[in-house]
Amino acid sequence: MANWSARHLYSVKLFARVGVWKISTKLHFPINILVQSLNMPTDKAGNQLLDYKNSTQPDGPATTGHGTPIAEKDATLTVGPRGPILLQDNAFIEELAHFDRERIPERVVHAKGGGAFGYFEVTHDITKYTAAKVFEKIGKKTPIALRFSTVAGESGSADTVRDPRGFAMKFYTEDGIWDLVGNNTPIFFIRDPILFPHFIHTQKRNPQTHLKDANMFWDFISLRPETTHQTMFVFSDRGIPDGFRHMNGYGSHTFKLVNDKGETVYCKFHHKTDQGIRNLDVKKAEQLAASDPDYGLRDLYNAIANGNFPSWTTYIQVMTMEQAAASKFNPFDLTKVWPQSEYPLIPAGKFVLNRNPQNYFAEIEQIAFSPAHMIPGIEPSPDKMLLGRLFSYGDTHRHRLGPNYLQLPVNCPFKVRNFQRDGPQAINNQGGAPNYHPNSFNGPDNDSRAKALSPPFAVSGEATRYDTGEEDNYSQPRVFYQKTLDGPARERLIANIVGALKDAADFIQDRTVKNFSQVDATFGQKLAEGLKTQKRANL
Ligand code: NDP
Repeated sequence: MANWSARHLYSVKLFARVGVWKISTKLHFPINILVQSLNMPTDKAGNQLLDYKNSTQPDGPATTGHGTPIAEKDATLTVGPRGPILLQDNAFIEELAHFDRERIPERVVHAKGGGAFGYFEVTHDITKYTAAKVFEKIGKKTPIALRFSTVAGESGSADTVRDPRGFAMKFYTEDGIWDLVGNNTPIFFIRDPILFPHFIHTQKRNPQTHLKDANMFWDFISLRPETTHQTMFVFSDRGIPDGFRHMNGYGSHTFKLVNDKGETVYCKFHHKTDQGIRNLDVKKAEQLAASDPDYGLRDLYNAIANGNFPSWTTYIQVMTMEQAAASKFNPFDLTKVWPQSEYPLIPAGKFVLNRNPQNYFAEIEQIAFSPAHMIPGIEPSPDKMLLGRLFSYGDTHRHRLGPNYLQLPVNCPFKVRNFQRDGPQAINNQGGAPNYHPNSFNGPDNDSRAKALSPPFAVSGEATRYDTGEEDNYSQPRVFYQKTLDGPARERLIANIVGALKDAADFIQDRTVKNFSQVDATFGQKLAEGLKTQKRANL
């Protein structure tokens, strides 16, 4: 147990440590020559293996998985040089058997991504709103992991497609793991999680053709007009960010904060990029999708490897319980923002990414975020999308990584004391500690501070299925179209929508245009004209 804890803690600390694996940026002279003569890449990502070689010594003999040296790595055990292979060649069988099991299920959404590690630092006091340890005092630093991703594409898809970007943060706090699993947009397409699998199906491949299908996408979008706001975000300039460093992140959902007196407010999280917003134009994005589909990953890796550490500034918006009760719009509706003039941004902290993963699979493919991972002082709000996600992320990880996914070094908290035991790969099985509660043998017990930070809350209303599809879908998109975007940005939005919508059936185009006309009549008219021009060009 002690041994395990020490190793486990060590892994977390190791992941969190700042700049530990800084590899010499200077290549030795002869290798530089080699790089040039072989026309090899000169960036840090392209030279990773050369850097590894320069910073290590030869590793000695290869071993089997059970650690015994292997006599001959490049030949199977055969009867004579041309003869059959012997079943006793365990090293060969073991290698093939492991190779056959190398892949774990791909994430259904957010399959393509990259990530890095660093720290979050408190810069402003927000303890009047929350007692969460991560915000305890100015100057406090907490280790973090951050995974960026696209949403719809498979694990090998291009980084420069038009799609929201995942912005998933893991805070390794002394009160356990806090995952803030957001996007680069403050809103989302839908407000009821029962629609989530359906919405995602429309982004994926047609079950018969195995092709992306414009009819599927625009049919759903036009039948569910609550998608209007997010669709406009995604088809605006910010729909194709230039890599992962030049975009904002948002917690997106509404959360509840609890202070040390047990008082609560609702809250939104915003992370503004310190690199400045930068987007790719459509042509450049298409070129990159063909020539460098891993553009976002490469850019992030190289920036960090070159010591150019990206950072973001974190703000919160706060709404009191009374303001929420009196709000004109539903503050728990994920298709809506909280207007900043009414709920101004309050600075809270900043975070810096200063370490690349040392092993992509171990630290990024296996990193497992869940909105259900909250810490005392941060609670869910009635946001239906958040509540749906509280279930589905853990469920996914149990499927992808197994029931003990929280024991993997990248996912494990500093300390776990509970009554869960056994299952596949149970590394932290907690020794001789009692596996039931209550018990008389020094097992872990209730925590009064955590209890004080989860005050009771009132709920009321009639239980039924409320279809929220018709709830004020256009007023915020109207502000976005008329006030947030300038003239040229509106023209690009229209061109981008026309470029995608033209591939859908006519009746779907008509319905979509009708919806956008309710945002702004000129917007609808210009879309209709753009689609007509496209049709004429195709005749
Ligand atoms: P504000 O003018 O106070 O806020 C506008 C926000 O829009 C800013 O946070 C800005 O983020 C962001 N923004 C600016 N240009 C673009 C763009 N081209 N694409 C996407 N976002 C952009 O007004 P409100 O708070 O009343 O919001 C007005 C509208 O702005 C909303 O209806 C919504 O569509 C959009 N918006 C609102 C956000 C919010 O949290 N209130 C956040 C993002 C967008 P930045 O400073 O980083 O440029």
